[in-house]
Amino acid sequence: MDNLKFYNTLSRKKEDFSPLNPPLVTTYSCGPTVYNYAHIGNLRTYVFMDELRRTLKYAGYTTKSVMNVTDVGHLTDDGDDGEDKMATAAKKQNKSPEEIAEFYSKVFFKDLDRLHILLPEIIAKATDNITEMIDFVKALCDMGYGYETDDGIYFDISKFAEYGKLSRCNIEDALAGARVAVNTQKRHPADFALWKKAEKNHIMQWKSPWGMGYPGWHIECSAMSKKFLGDTFDIHTGGVDHIPIHHENEIAQSEALEGHKVVSLWMHGEFMLVDGGKMSKSLGNVYTIDELMQRGYSPLAFRYFCLNTHYRNKLNFTFDGLSGAATAYNRLRGIISSCKNAPKADSDTAKKVAEQKAAIIAAVYDDLNFPLALGELWTMAKLPACREIYDVAVELDAVFGLDLHLPIEQTAADIPEEVKAIAEKRFAARKAKDWATSDALRAELDALGYTVLDGKDSYELRVKN
Ligand code: AMP
Ligand code: ZN
Repeated sequence: MDNLKFYNTLSRKKEDFSPLNPPLVTTYSCGPTVYNYAHIGNLRTYVFMDELRRTLKYAGYTTKSVMNVTDVGHLTDDGDDGEDKMATAAKKQNKSPEEIAEFYSKVFFKDLDRLHILLPEIIAKATDNITEMIDFVKALCDMGYGYETDDGIYFDISKFAEYGKLSRCNIEDALAGARVAVNTQKRHPADFALWKKAEKNHIMQWKSPWGMGYPGWHIECSAMSKKFLGDTFDIHTGGVDHIPIHHENEIAQSEALEGHKVVSLWMHGEFMLVDGGKMSKSLGNVYTIDELMQRGYSPLAFRYFCLNTHYRNKLNFTFDGLSGAATAYNRLRGIISSCKNAPKADSDTAKKVAEQKAAIIAAVYDDLNFPLALGELWTMAKLPACREIYDVAVELDAVFGLDLHLPIEQTAADIPEEVKAIAEKRFAARKAKDWATSDALRAELDALGYTVLDGKDSYELRVKN
């Protein structure tokens, strides 16, 4: 196994990577709350998760990775107040929380696929693991870390001396920073909910030793990581917004229960900004992958755009920036794919290709420095054309995930209007359940070199490669 270095949020240092049981590496990534479409900021965080997993695999490790899907318990303010995000979405759309979760999970996984994000080995739905969460909370109560109030079970942060170690704020800071408690029965304002008791009409509730209720958001990740990865594991990832509350609380719960350190390495992806500011619905700048595609950008051009900024730096999204990335990405693919039929390198070029390959690998092994790795890939692409460039790029695409073997990609914007019109006609036929016409038009598209992927209420037209 090769030497990797990763930045650990806990120590604030780049550390040599040494997993607990090589060649196995166990990782846990906080997954989506499936009450809405994932936006491109959320997806940047999963591209980062993917860069990490692909790099580990390339370096010779076997990964056992878990990503959860939160379908209960994430309240509107990330803490203990507000409504459950799933329940709110269900009410608004007049659907059941299960229907909401199913719909948005499907879209989410389709987005991951489009972005070439490899699926973690284990996808864990919160609602499938309620028993484990109840057992976890029960154990914390038995050990004196949890206590009951009229509206739930809370974690007493004053009992966990190291509370705040990830975000480097101490208990006094946490107490001072906490909002005036709505719940006056809490021992400390910063104590957080492990379990919430449900009002009669609350839409999602389970039987527990404390009556009907539902889990807190933080306990989900502690209970599911323990279930699937055990009481110690190698790497935990998430976005930087999780550092001060969600991950601090996960550490408190898990380490209180186990009596020792649980996660060796904490890695966090920085935020994506849009036009230099926060993404927000009210500003109308929350984009999805679908919206980027409608504007003619391919998901992989967005992936290239993400890789071009280090995961620990903020990434400012602008359409100009994305256009630049799309152009560069296409040029790169064009050069590399054209090397497929190029002659073998002379000895000088062959040496340079080998040096570039080593430089690319060194960059990704150094805390996932993908911007540098792309720079080195470009240096290689500009060497005199030879088959070796193609071979190395295709091998290293295991870490880039950019389909570097393919020629310049045709984006939706390049698809001729006539073809789009046939696809529209087919979609209308399908909606009208006129399967014969729909099939005939699909065959027509196929003959022209296009495939249609059907969604529930939409479709995607792709150029056949
Ligand atoms: P959520 O579905 O809200 O739990 O968020 C899913 C993931 O996206 C979490 O890991 C967040 O940290 C991350 N995230 C949320 N907003 C952004 C953003 N603007 N840029 C990057 N990551 C984000
Ligand atoms: Zn989590």
